[in-house]
Amino acid sequence: MKQLFLPELTYVQGKVERGQGILVEDGVILAVDAKETLVSAHADAQRFDWPKRLAFPGTVNVHNHSFQSLLRGIAADRPFLEWRDQALYKFSPLLSPEDLYWGAVFAFGEMARYGVTTVSDFFYLHNDSLEGDEAIIRAAKDVGVRLVLARTMYDWAGAPEGYRETIPQAVENTRSLAKKYADSPWLRIVPAPHSLHAASLDMIRAGHRLAKDLDCNFHIHVAEEPFEVEEVKRTHKGLHTIELLDSIGVVDERMVIVHGVWLKPEEIQTLGAHGGKLAYCPSSNMFLADGVTDLVAMHKAGVVVGLGSDGACSNNRISIFEEMRMASLLQKVHTCNAMSVNYNQAVAMGTENGGTILQMPVGTIAPGYNADFVSIDLADLSMQPLSGSLEQLLPNLVYSMQPNAIDSVVVGGRLVSKRGELQTVPNQTITQNVQRILERLTSI
Ligand SMILES: [Zn+2]
Repeated sequence: MKQLFLPELTYVQGKVERGQGILVEDGVILAVDAKETLVSAHADAQRFDWPKRLAFPGTVNVHNHSFQSLLRGIAADRPFLEWRDQALYKFSPLLSPEDLYWGAVFAFGEMARYGVTTVSDFFYLHNDSLEGDEAIIRAAKDVGVRLVLARTMYDWAGAPEGYRETIPQAVENTRSLAKKYADSPWLRIVPAPHSLHAASLDMIRAGHRLAKDLDCNFHIHVAEEPFEVEEVKRTHKGLHTIELLDSIGVVDERMVIVHGVWLKPEEIQTLGAHGGKLAYCPSSNMFLADGVTDLVAMHKAGVVVGLGSDGACSNNRISIFEEMRMASLLQKVHTCNAMSVNYNQAVAMGTENGGTILQMPVGTIAPGYNADFVSIDLADLSMQPLSGSLEQLLPNLVYSMQPNAIDSVVVGGRLVSKRGELQTVPNQTITQNVQRILERLTSI
């Protein structure tokens, strides 16, 4: 089926264009061209008229833990390790596959409403089966967003038992899921050895090998908190985190590190020189008082940076438009330099860089990419003022836009959210199920 999207303005390859339309067939963008040309050549296409709207790429969330949406508001304002013990470790073992499903519908639904069309879920509540993984996959399908399941490989004995697998189990489970869904344009399964504090070096090596076998990237938390760096230095002859990972041969173009807060300048150089990538989660780093990643050095070193919300109980908003704003503001105040990260860089991190990191044709409005976009209401007060030259459009999008300006959210040509209401799973159904689960959890 052919579709024509006809916005007033379109964000195409770094520029805002007037009078362009988007032709879509079977969920993929076929052409971006003058509206009159497209309308006269494709009179039979289903038409979406978007007057006073900007068509903007759907945003890409490169790091999330969907089940954590159920824990939002619990143990807020505590240090990382206290938050981990009082929120995460206390409640996560109590979640059934059905709870995980509703947690993910809740997370993905809320994100979709805020313009996220592809999300990477770093998932580790395995409980000795694939039921949880399948629940997350089902939730993404039901909400209608694209998913990269970063299937976590975890063998640290100090964590709840349900997180843990042996190395052969973790490899086999990840490989079998990846094979099962190999042909899906909606879904990718990638290995994700959790971190240096929660996965053994052999588990990390196995994750890296598996990524090579499956020809995909692998995700790993690195240097989120000083305690991880101190532990690594103590147990590995003074080596820092990236130094240790480099010494075992896993720092390469497949590596996506999450956070990277406590890295030495030389480690950032190594990461960039080897083609490594960064999932940057500025709000979560602020919420948990982790510290500030040196984004300026990351950019200088050539590290591709995408944005992640992280889990909703360490943010606590899960919007990538929000992270664009936060990334820029946090870097400005950290460096005392208003030019350290600009709005164009913020937009790239929240859209096309995310597509590069997740290895999906998303985050860009161009032929061959998936038809994932959002329409922004240009008449919303938070987008004003707008002059004819459109110079303020992108700064307003990054720094002043409020969620109510996000009108339609389209994934693969399908309308997933409209004026704040999900079109796939009703908002009210989500609220009722989340409430039911929380009543049970907090009464135990
Ligand atoms: Zn994380």
